[in-house]
Amino acid sequence: MKILIHIFKIHFDNMKLDKYTFGIGDRFSQQGKSQLEAFIMAEKDGLKITPVWNKSFREHEIIGSHPEDVRKEADNTVKNLSWPRGYYVDADHININNVRNFIKSSDFFTIDITLSLGTIPDDRLVNKFIDGCKQYLTNLHIPGITEPYTVNNQSLLNIANKYLSAIKEAAEVYSIIEGLKGKNNFVIEISIDETENAQSPIELFFILKIIGENNIPLQTIAPKFSGRFNKGVDYIGDVEQFSKEFNEDLLVIDYAIQKFSLPENLKLSIHSGSDKFSIYPEIGKLIKKHNKGIHIKTAGTTWLEEVAGLAASGGKSLEMVKNIYKCSLSRIDELTKPYSDVIDIDINNLPSIETINNWSSEKFVNAIRHDPDHPEYNKDMRQLIHVSYKIAAEFGEEFIEQINSNAEIIGKFVTENIYDKHFMRLFICER
Ligand SMILES: [Zn+2]
Repeated sequence: MKILIHIFKIHFDNMKLDKYTFGIGDRFSQQGKSQLEAFIMAEKDGLKITPVWNKSFREHEIIGSHPEDVRKEADNTVKNLSWPRGYYVDADHININNVRNFIKSSDFFTIDITLSLGTIPDDRLVNKFIDGCKQYLTNLHIPGITEPYTVNNQSLLNIANKYLSAIKEAAEVYSIIEGLKGKNNFVIEISIDETENAQSPIELFFILKIIGENNIPLQTIAPKFSGRFNKGVDYIGDVEQFSKEFNEDLLVIDYAIQKFSLPENLKLSIHSGSDKFSIYPEIGKLIKKHNKGIHIKTAGTTWLEEVAGLAASGGKSLEMVKNIYKCSLSRIDELTKPYSDVIDIDINNLPSIETINNWSSEKFVNAIRHDPDHPEYNKDMRQLIHVSYKIAAEFGEEFIEQINSNAEIIGKFVTENIYDKHFMRLFICER
């Protein structure tokens, strides 16, 4: 048995996700270089953050891009900038229906179980799960957490009904990937972040138990935390409560690693993780305190910098982003629908087409760049632009041309955003 564990560990290390990883989405595959430059700057600070280029099935569908495009961009960028360490290409938010599209190009798979949550499992599975949890009944003590959690048969039954089938399906997705890519040649994340309700730390504990029982070598998990993680804007909620929950989640993960034979580097992944400035200091502090890793996933924050860069460039580029905004105003329902759980737009706070017409570059940039203290910053407009990349995709070559003609200013925005607003606040804030 010992030998087996040893062999497993050696193989597993082949694709062992580094402590700090950061997901970068690049809607139009034009900013890879500017994104990677932020990681190179961090590297010079002595901070090792591994880039993960992520793109979801949803984004590919909306834009009309292909998983191979992401692989090509990542490989070329890494080569051109002589990036010295590892990097990944993440098939983000995939499921059993679309996983096969991503096999060749990805080495990181985020299996989203949201759609299968609540599929009632058969009684045999439920009873087996509840039987296996007997030792945790009544009071469950997690090392490091003062108050024990109350566990009863009803709470276990609720967890079983909600998660057993969904995680079983994730195991099927995992075995499809393993069958086609070979064991230990990829990283697995499971995401449950795009649901209505947050998962409590105790729920996370039992979710991890089920994942362990299904033999999924999970390296990162994205629960839904309490509070709002809206796309591209700051966290909305009780920071103290978040901090308590995040701290408990870290301790739950540590305990689950021991109890359920999960990979020792298993860590939390924060989706819609860009721009959550008010909780970054808490996250930074707690992962250091517990010596844990983290994966932060961002996507649209780079696209928003592209829009800001175009606006700052003035002339035709400013006209183009005004047009993108105007179209998105008239198609707001269509654009926001795929993101209903992760955006929150107050339409009364959106500037009208007439208002926008008179805006200067500066005014447009001030409204959408993420400086929460700026009097002209508009979080509702920023969220709408976040989901309006579909319109840019419809502009096609014309849009890409504008991006390329203003590559310098846009690139500067993209790098600064990742390095100053994200890395500095998350990882280097105490220096
Ligand atoms: Zn997500």
